[in-house]
Order: sequence, then C-alpha cells, then structure tokens
Amino acid sequence: MSTPLTPADQEFAGRTALITGGASGIGLALAHRLAAGGASVVVADYDEANAREAVAELESAGAKAAAVAMDVTDPASVEAGVRFAVDTFGALHLAVNNAGIGGPSNPTGEYAIEDWNRVVATNLSGVFHSMRYELPAIVAAGGGAVVNMSSILGTNGFAGSPAYVAAKHGVVGLTKTAALEYAAQNVRVNAVGPGFIDTPLLRNTDGQDRDHLISLHPAGRLGKAEEVAELAAFLLSDRASFIHGSYHLVDGGYSAS
Ligand code: NDP
Repeated sequence: MSTPLTPADQEFAGRTALITGGASGIGLALAHRLAAGGASVVVADYDEANAREAVAELESAGAKAAAVAMDVTDPASVEAGVRFAVDTFGALHLAVNNAGIGGPSNPTGEYAIEDWNRVVATNLSGVFHSMRYELPAIVAAGGGAVVNMSSILGTNGFAGSPAYVAAKHGVVGLTKTAALEYAAQNVRVNAVGPGFIDTPLLRNTDGQDRDHLISLHPAGRLGKAEEVAELAAFLLSDRASFIHGSYHLVDGGYSAS
C-alpha cells in the first residue's frame, strides 16, 4: 500500500525546526505553522528580545519553542545558534533560512558600496553561513529538509535593487547546489520565491509605491505571510518527499507574464 500524501495534524511531531529571521513577518508565520504541526521551533533572530517575544507567543499557544540571538552575517553566531538548537531539542531536522533585509532603492551606478555589502552579507552570505552549519547537523539527525527564502527577484530583475536581486538569484544557485550535494544523505533543499508580501519588510512602502507594488500582482493585492508559510511548510514536510533543488513561486501571478 502506498503512503497517502495528505497533510497530517502533527506531521512535524518529533522534529526540530530552526528559522532565521523567525521573529517577524514570514518567519514568524512559519514558526506558528510548524509549531501547529507539532515541531519544536527555534526562533533565531538578530534582536533577541523580538525572538523571546515570538517564543512567548508560541508557548502560550502550547508549542515547544526556544529563542536564540543570531546574526546571519556572522558565521560564529550562526554556528552557536545551530549548536543551541541541537543542545536544546536533541537534534536538528528542519531549517528555514529566511532572515533578510531590503536595502535602499538606488540604480546600480549610484548604489552605495556599503549598502551592497550589507545586503549581500545578510541575504546571500547569511544563507550560506546557515546551511554551512545546519547541513551537517541535519545529516547527523538522519536527514530532513531546508527551505531557503529567495524571492520573485530570484529570477527577475527589479530596477533600484541590484544587491537584493543579485543576492536572491544567488540563493537559488546555492539551493540547487546544496540539493545536489545532500540528496543522497536524505536532505532535501528547496527555495521559495514570494511576490511582495505585506510584512514589516515593506514598512517604508506606502501610498503610490504600495499601489504600484500591488499592481504588479494579477491577484490585485500583496501576499500574506501565512500564504508563504503554507508553501514552505509543505516543502519541509514528508508530503514533498521527491522535491529536491527546486524554486517554488508564491506570487499572486507576478511572474506569469
Ligand atoms: P521581516 O523584516 O518582517 O523579517 C525579517 C527578519 O529577519 C526580521 O526579524 C529581521 O530582524 C531579521 N534579520 C534581519 N537581518 C538579520 C540578520 N543579520 N540576522 C538575523 N536576522 C536578521 O521581513 P519578511 O518576513 O518580509 O522577510 C523574510 C524573508 O522573505 C526575507 O529573506 C525577504 O527578503 C524575503 N522576501 C520578502 C518579501 C516581502 O515582500 N516581504 C518578498 C520576497 C521575499 P530586524 O527586524 O531586527 O532587522
């Protein structure tokens, strides 16, 4: 008899998930989604107070969760965060490399070097640093899954965002490479490409800018963090057991034309 590919209430029971940038927006929605599926969740975020607040919310909903301060631009901080997850819950099975920043909007010929370095350090090197320490831990646990947060800008350009676009393209390449390397060790690595999602990342976007972003989505609105979380949760689950090294859109039709 074949295994049914249907969502189970507690499909993540007995699994530990680490989410970078887990205290806000998409990461926070995913923390709740995985916890509702029975995972023990480690919320790793730049600001420890925000991570603790997220964990308090998760615990009040009955989840097993722990907070750790992590700066994904700093390999030592990431290594310590992964060790914390393993020490706290016994093993690491699932990782979501989601921490990211937007950066300022300027054309390439005027883009400040320090802004380039900061965005690439967070959005691209941060994903590498995370997988660098997560993958050996997941292999040691007997296998699991990783989701890297790219963007629709992982395959499309966007005027004014050279660093963000380059970093998100890089995340897709890193994802495919790690997937090839680790498939035989029972680790699946995939990327998600959200359209513009209504989270604190868009906090400086209002009025006409916001209307313009909405107009880019045939669905006629921005996405919700929970809609991205649902796709990521599927990719992390055993229901996605034959999905390796691919990039999945959740973008209200942004990329369809
Ligand atoms: P949020 O700003 O709501 O959440 C991002 C989280 O990452 C914040 O808690 C932030 O902390 C944290 N963070 C930032 N820098 C670091 C760092 N160096 N180390 C650890 N944590 C860090 O954004 P979203 O939820 O919208 O974004 C999540 C991911 O989704 C990002 O990678 C983003 O690029 C991607 N994405 C978002 C889209 C959108 O339209 N919102 C569209 C496509 C992709 P702090 O607040 O303290 O800076």
